[in-house]
Amino acid sequence: MSTDSRNAEHGPFERSSYDAVVVGAGPGGCAAASILARGGASVLHLERSQTPQFKVGESLMPETFGPLEKMGVIDDMRGSEFVKKHSVQFYTSSGKASAPFYFSSINDTESAQTWQVHRADFDQLLFENGRRHGVDAHRGVNAREIVWDGDRAVGLRGQASGGRDFEVAAKVVIDATGQSSLIAKKLGLERVDYGLQHASIFTHFQGALRDDGIDEGATLILQTSDARSWFWFIPLARDIVSIGVVGKVEELIQQRQGQPHETFFDEVAKCPEIARRIEGAVQCRPVQVIKDFSYRSPQVAGDGWVLVGDAFSFIDPVYSSGVFLALKSGEMAAEAVLDGLRTGDLSRAQLGRFEDELRGGMAAVLRLVQAFYAPNFSFGGFLKEHPHHQRDITRILVGDVLDVDFTPLFRDMDEFQSRVSA
Ligand SMILES: Cc1cc2nc3c(=O)[nH]c(=O)nc-3n(C[C@H](O)[C@H](O)[C@H](O)COP(=O)(O)OP(=O)(O)OC[C@H]3O[C@@H](n4cnc5c(N)ncnc54)[C@H](O)[C@@H]3O)c2cc1C
Repeated sequence: MSTDSRNAEHGPFERSSYDAVVVGAGPGGCAAASILARGGASVLHLERSQTPQFKVGESLMPETFGPLEKMGVIDDMRGSEFVKKHSVQFYTSSGKASAPFYFSSINDTESAQTWQVHRADFDQLLFENGRRHGVDAHRGVNAREIVWDGDRAVGLRGQASGGRDFEVAAKVVIDATGQSSLIAKKLGLERVDYGLQHASIFTHFQGALRDDGIDEGATLILQTSDARSWFWFIPLARDIVSIGVVGKVEELIQQRQGQPHETFFDEVAKCPEIARRIEGAVQCRPVQVIKDFSYRSPQVAGDGWVLVGDAFSFIDPVYSSGVFLALKSGEMAAEAVLDGLRTGDLSRAQLGRFEDELRGGMAAVLRLVQAFYAPNFSFGGFLKEHPHHQRDITRILVGDVLDVDFTPLFRDMDEFQSRVSA
């Protein structure tokens, strides 16, 4: 078919009707689109930005390996310039470093190692991968509204690049629009708050001091000296290091007089290890601010629609779980849709069949996040009393959280926490 006749019939797309339309080309949308196409579904994938954009979310968890493999993109990851990440290390407010949590301590396969990624490159790699597997993928397309037949999503309207309006039919609409949460907003679904009102100020440096050998790609999580905020230190390719500070919205943003740039460096002054590592380095991005990013939607699916990634929920950046949960929920949604297409059941129950499993995994991450922010709680102190829980904590840090019973760990953490905060 010539491009002209295609445009006349279907606007910019290959067809007027698809098995699935996926909106948003972050990791969640790309996972869903690629796995659906590899499973034989016809997929339209739409992304608003014309070109790949800078994003936070640069540190992956080892359990991303599974979804990346199912997407057919693992060889590209192996051959990429992305820095290899083998561990996470924590620094206390007094500047004391924990022993690194090496992922190989619980997994001796290749998937114990993961990557630190420039997100524009990573997201583009995943987007192009979908195209290679047959996804009809387009940038510069803004999804505006869902087409409904009663309560069932049956398609999408929006504006393609060049300003042309379009409408396309689909058996399922997958919302992977991240924090924009297209469907949840249109349906007026109230976000459920996790009680973590945090903000972050972040930037990139070139030439910062990083560790050697196997520790070169380690994520560092460092408390400031007053323990009111913490930094991430994520070494990326091209001698770039991503550095961000996270704290309470009122303390990091609302109660500050100066600009975010000044606040960032005020916080650096309270974290001597970060100050040491960026001495002589060049800041190569203006600081950016994000706040109030922790929430979940009350439901993951409805008739003919599913939410994946941040469009469903985001917990907190401290353990770098966001991209993993986006990829994994994209995979779980794609598999539910493929089975539903086979049986003709695209109901809420079928499309959201993974909700309990996903929520269970998220609850485990959330419990560890809450411990991190709890006053007086220290993982070092806890593990001194309960060294046998090291393995379960590392399992959560790698993302091995689905269908795992962490009750004994959380029972002992609750007991420890109530004792130290008494
Ligand atoms: C401060 C901070 C630090 C973080 N650090 C980490 C980390 O180190 N590791 C980690 O794993 N996670 C981290 N995260 C989380 C991570 O960034 C997200 O969880 C992840 O990007 C979610 O992926 P996604 O595919 O759901 O959404 P996104 O990556 O946000 O992608 C959504 C896409 O949808 C597109 N879109 C939106 N609306 C429309 C529309 N109407 N039409 C078409 N397209 C649209 C957007 O342009 C975007 O490309 C961090 C988050 C924060 C806030």
